[in-house]
Amino acid sequence: SEILLEELDHVGPATAQKLNDAGYNSVEAVAVASPSELVATAEIGESTAAKIISAARSAADIGGFETGDFVMQRRMEVGKLRTGCEEFDELMGGGIETQSITEMYGEFGSGKTQIAHQLAVNTQLPKEMGGLDGSVIIIDTENTFRPERIEHMVAGLSHKFEQDFDPAEFLKNIHVARAYNSNHQILLVDAATEMANKLKNTDKPVRLVIVDSLTAHFRAEYVGRGTLADRQQKLNKHLHDLQRFGDLNNASVIVTNQVMSKPDAFFGDPTRPIGGHILGHTATFRLYIRKSKGDKRIVKLVDSPCLPDGEAVACITTDGLCD
Ligand code: ADP
Ligand code: MG
Repeated sequence: SEILLEELDHVGPATAQKLNDAGYNSVEAVAVASPSELVATAEIGESTAAKIISAARSAADIGGFETGDFVMQRRMEVGKLRTGCEEFDELMGGGIETQSITEMYGEFGSGKTQIAHQLAVNTQLPKEMGGLDGSVIIIDTENTFRPERIEHMVAGLSHKFEQDFDPAEFLKNIHVARAYNSNHQILLVDAATEMANKLKNTDKPVRLVIVDSLTAHFRAEYVGRGTLADRQQKLNKHLHDLQRFGDLNNASVIVTNQVMSKPDAFFGDPTRPIGGHILGHTATFRLYIRKSKGDKRIVKLVDSPCLPDGEAVACITTDGLCD
């Protein structure tokens, strides 16, 4: 039943090719694009772009408004990815949701990358084991992806489920790309979309994309007041692209954000990232991670749209995340 781009009004073979090359390989992807994006990527005029988007919206049945029952139906497809720690899952209403961006913020060493590794493993598990039966894409901006940690965590799962999981199989379903700067990072979401389209009809469609760290390159490159608006605009677009990726693929999106503790916290909420919350409210779920005694970590849910704020204690061990 899939409609091809060429079948849309105002899209000839040449434009279809350009759209495809730019990563808009489905009617849905075009339907949720903005005219200026299409103008820039497909070398077409603004009014043609608007017409194409409108044609794609009717074809993909994506209008400006949806009735509540339709939203409900899409919500029913939302998957929940279990973390390996029961308290953490409960805090999240059963697990990390698909079709949403979950931000993990915290200081250096708080465990953001470790949790991301664990989720990259768990995503691949069958649904009855708390996974999403899917593959994973990691956009690694700090060169902190470690295949050895994946092996440890798969061994941890083998203990837990008393079953022999093959670490090599898990590594094969994790697609890692290094991002060398913020522009590259943004472009990698397009590459991720291509990868997701390739895997869409396999037995391991992409169900998780991780950006670790979301903000490091942006922080390093945009220094000084004059450039902050520019940074914000780029970051907003990047998050918008990620949200769209999550929606189109029924995938979870995990982003990390390193924050500094404020040594002289005389006022304000210490759980708010100091030095500017550069994400604003674009992430659906926001988790503040901090170190506690030994291998314990406190995970605090902040500003969720439908869940009460609360805290969970999780442990990071060699075997991975656990109660
Ligand atoms: P962040 O990404 O928030 O900066 P990380 O996720 O890299 O922090 O967390 C690093 C911490 O994770 C280490 O300080 C250590 O406590 C824990 N950790 C890392 N590797 C292991 C391991 N193999 N076994 C147990 N704990 C580990
Ligand atoms: Mg890290």
